[in-house]
Amino acid sequence: MSGGTEKKAYTSQSITVTFEAGRCLHAAECVRGLPEVFDPGRRPWIRPDSAGAGRVAEVVRRCPSGALQYELVDGGAETPG
Ligand code: SF4
Repeated sequence: MSGGTEKKAYTSQSITVTFEAGRCLHAAECVRGLPEVFDPGRRPWIRPDSAGAGRVAEVVRRCPSGALQYELVDGGAETPG
């Protein structure tokens, strides 16, 4: 296995959603769950600030493939590397 699973990050003030296209099974759980946040016909196709972080996290957890993941932004408590 070589090459890349490209991982993209989409950030709002309270949550960062990452998406690995190579793992996506197109089950559309995300699109069904929160169409205002996940819209494949739009660029960027994920807009985490279009819903509350809690709801975004809930839908991300429904992703059956693990293509979607999230991290809550906690008032800048973490300092990125
Ligand atoms: S829920 Fe996960 S597997 Fe399904 S379309 Fe969204 S990202 Fe892809």
